[in-house]
Amino acid sequence: MIPFNIRQFSCVFVGLTFSRMNSAKPTKLWKKLAIPAALLALSAGLLSRWPASRHATEAARLGQTSSSERLEAVIDQPGPLSVETLVGADWQVPRSGLINLKSTRAQAAGMKDGPEPIQIYAYAIRHPTQGLFLVDTGAERALSNDRDHAALRGILARAAHLDLLEVRTTTGAWLTAHDLVPSGVLLTHLHLDHVLGMPDIPGSVPVYAGPGESDERGLMNVFTQPVIDRALGERGPIRQWQFQPDPSGRFAGVLDVFGDGTLWALYVPGHTAGSTAYLARTPKGPVLFTGDACHTAWGWEHGVEPGTFSDDQPMSAKSLRQLRDLVARHPSIDVRLGHQALAQR
Ligand SMILES: [Zn+2]
Repeated sequence: MIPFNIRQFSCVFVGLTFSRMNSAKPTKLWKKLAIPAALLALSAGLLSRWPASRHATEAARLGQTSSSERLEAVIDQPGPLSVETLVGADWQVPRSGLINLKSTRAQAAGMKDGPEPIQIYAYAIRHPTQGLFLVDTGAERALSNDRDHAALRGILARAAHLDLLEVRTTTGAWLTAHDLVPSGVLLTHLHLDHVLGMPDIPGSVPVYAGPGESDERGLMNVFTQPVIDRALGERGPIRQWQFQPDPSGRFAGVLDVFGDGTLWALYVPGHTAGSTAYLARTPKGPVLFTGDACHTAWGWEHGVEPGTFSDDQPMSAKSLRQLRDLVARHPSIDVRLGHQALAQR
């Protein structure tokens, strides 16, 4: 999820421009705007090819190619992992970004655009021998006590209504309280709201993400890329999952992360090119982390894909369908969504 869309950001941009126009002398106005406007027009093509991140990437050495068949053979067997949800922050963003309001089901339900409450999560997964892994990163300390130095700051923070973000638990405070250093961060994707806690994670900790996340192109990246790269900081290259097609076609790809059948990476492109869901086997049963393949409880319950925040809505609808089909085949799966909690069953 990017917590606003290009139209909304454009409104802020135009608003700022307009406010400057009003303060300028009318006779000189066209001179002031002509050159910037021409430059903007000339560079529009270039800007629309702006990458999501300039942070280096490399192939992940972790993760064995597997299949949905092998996953589903063990999925209902209790596993050794523990899972804890860290609620980093409460926020609100436009519903139209989170849910495809043009879908038949959303229209039938009479859903309208408006602010939708969301949460920013990190999920702590403990493995008996591999250590602690975080799925996504929650919220950094600076968001609670030093916003001028948070990775998300400045004009983008205003456009994203960071003033509406209320920090609950910072990732740094949680790691300190538990005296833990993660063995790795498993990103569901590289949108800024999923790396907001990254500055609290030591630079030595390896970061994994799906293929092509940094290479995603778009005008919006002109604004978001500095935030994402600031959050990633000086750490080593992002390690990209090496997915191969799932033979059954139930998913775009399936990896057995440690090769022991406890933690799985599921390739679910659409929201972004490399969107990845994870599944952990715990003593109480399987836990699925959808990432932004599904942001909201309503979207999950009604099978409606994300809205304007997604790159490829038809593909994201397909990936959501594949995840919901998995849960239909294995109803004991505990589903943790990108930005809202499902009601306890
Ligand atoms: Zn998101």
